[in-house]
Amino acid sequence: MPNLPNIPGDSPHNAGVVVRGRRILTPEGERPATIHIRDGVIVAISHLDEISSDSLVFDAGDLVVMPGLVDTHVHINEPGRAEWEGFSSATQAAAAGGMTTLIEMPLNSIPATTSAAAYREKVAATAHKLWVDVGFWGGVVPGNVRELRPLWEAGVFGFKCFLVPSGVSEFALVAESDLRAALPELAALGAPLLAHAELPGPIESAINNAASKNATGGNDPCKYATWLASRPREAENEAIALLLFLSREFNAPLHVVHLSSSDAIAPLCEAKALGARISVETCPHYLAFAAEEIAAGATEFKCAPPIRERENRERLWAALADGTIDLIASDHSPCPPSMKLRERGDFLRAWGGIASLQLGLPVVWTEARSRGYALTHIVKWMCEGPASLAGLTGRKGAIAVGCDADLVIFNPDATFRVDPARLYHRHKLTPYAGRELTGVVEATFVRGQKVFEKGEFGPATTGCVLRRGSV
Ligand SMILES: [Zn+2]
Repeated sequence: MPNLPNIPGDSPHNAGVVVRGRRILTPEGERPATIHIRDGVIVAISHLDEISSDSLVFDAGDLVVMPGLVDTHVHINEPGRAEWEGFSSATQAAAAGGMTTLIEMPLNSIPATTSAAAYREKVAATAHKLWVDVGFWGGVVPGNVRELRPLWEAGVFGFKCFLVPSGVSEFALVAESDLRAALPELAALGAPLLAHAELPGPIESAINNAASKNATGGNDPCKYATWLASRPREAENEAIALLLFLSREFNAPLHVVHLSSSDAIAPLCEAKALGARISVETCPHYLAFAAEEIAAGATEFKCAPPIRERENRERLWAALADGTIDLIASDHSPCPPSMKLRERGDFLRAWGGIASLQLGLPVVWTEARSRGYALTHIVKWMCEGPASLAGLTGRKGAIAVGCDADLVIFNPDATFRVDPARLYHRHKLTPYAGRELTGVVEATFVRGQKVFEKGEFGPATTGCVLRRGSV
C-alpha cells in the first residue's frame, strides 16, 4: 500500500483525501467504491474510479475498508491510576486494533467521573495523549444526583452505575433507592443509564454455601469453577429483572453492560418486544472462551460477571444474531500484573478485569466467522450498535456521507498468533496470549488521518475529546 502523508484535519485549505477499494463496507453492504474525505468528514462516496486530480489517494485494493470500531466500554484509569493503563497506551492499542472511538468508564481513575469537576480533571489528563477519539461516561453513585445535570451539560454521553461493589472504594454501588432518586433526573435529561447488572444477594448466598463446602475441604480458590460458582447466574438474572422493572416505571433508557448469563436473554427479548427502552452488550471474552477450558490458576481470565459454560456462550451468540444483544464492547479493564496474583493463581483474591482493547476485532471476527457470520454483522455489533448507545449515530460507526472518516483497512483472511510483546496496552498480561486469530488491522484512519499502518504510528497524536452535544 502507498504511504499517505498525514493531513491536518481542521485546515480549511486541506487537499481532499480519498480512500478507495473493491470491498468498502457501507450501510448498504459491501461494494467497490471511493470514499471522498474533506476536513476529516466523508463528503461523498462514488464509483471506484471517480477521483479528482488533486486528491491524495489511499488504495486499499482487495482489503476490506470498514468503519472504525466504537468501543463504549473501556477503563483507562487515568488520572489517579495511570500505572494500570493510560490515555496514551490505551489509545495506541485502540488505533492498532481498529478502534477509532472510545467511550471511557467513570471508574478506576481517581477521581471517579462522578462530578463535573472530576470530568474536567479527566479531560485535562488527556492532553496530547489521544491517538483516537475519546468521550466519557459519568457515574451514578449514592448521593450525587445533583451532579448528574452538570455532568450531562459538560459533555458526558450517559451514566454508569454498579449494583454490586465495583472493586474500588471511590465508586460505591447503588441500591434500588439510589436508582429511584437518580432515574427521574436521567429520564428528564434523556441520558442512558448503563448498569453493571449483578445483585449482591445471590453472590453472598453462593459465598456462604461455598464457605460450608470449604469446611469439608472442597472449594479450591485456584480452580476456575470456584470463582464461577461464587458469581452465579442468579445475580445477573435478578439485577436485570430489577432494571427492567425500573425502566418501565421511569421510562428511562437503560443499558446492560457485559451480559454473561444467558438465562437473562429470554426476559430481555420479551421486554424489548414490548417496547422496553433497554439495550444490551456482551464482550469478546464471553464469546470466545468457555469456563470448561480455563486452567487452574489462570487468573488472567478473571472478570465479573464471569466467563460461563460453553453452552451459555453459544446462547449469547444466538442472542446477538436475533438482536436481543445489541452490541459488543471490550470491557478493557487492565491492572498491574502483580494484582492478578498469577503466581498464587488465586481466583478469589485476584483483580477482576480482562485486557483486550487491541484484540477485540480479530477475536470477535475469528469466532463470528467460524459460526457463519459476515463482516456486516461485525459492523452492526461493533460500529453501529455502540455508536447508537452513545448517541453518535450519523457521526461515528458508519461509512456514510456526513460521518467522520474513521476507517479500518482490514485483512479478514490473514491470521496471526497473539504475541503479548506486540500489544500496546500498558501491561501485556492477557488471556489471548498465544491464541491464533484471524483478521489483521492493516491501517487505521481517524477523521481522515492515518494514525496507524503495519505496526507504525503517525508522527503525532490526532485524537480529540468527544463531548455530547458538540459532536
Ligand atoms: Zn467495566
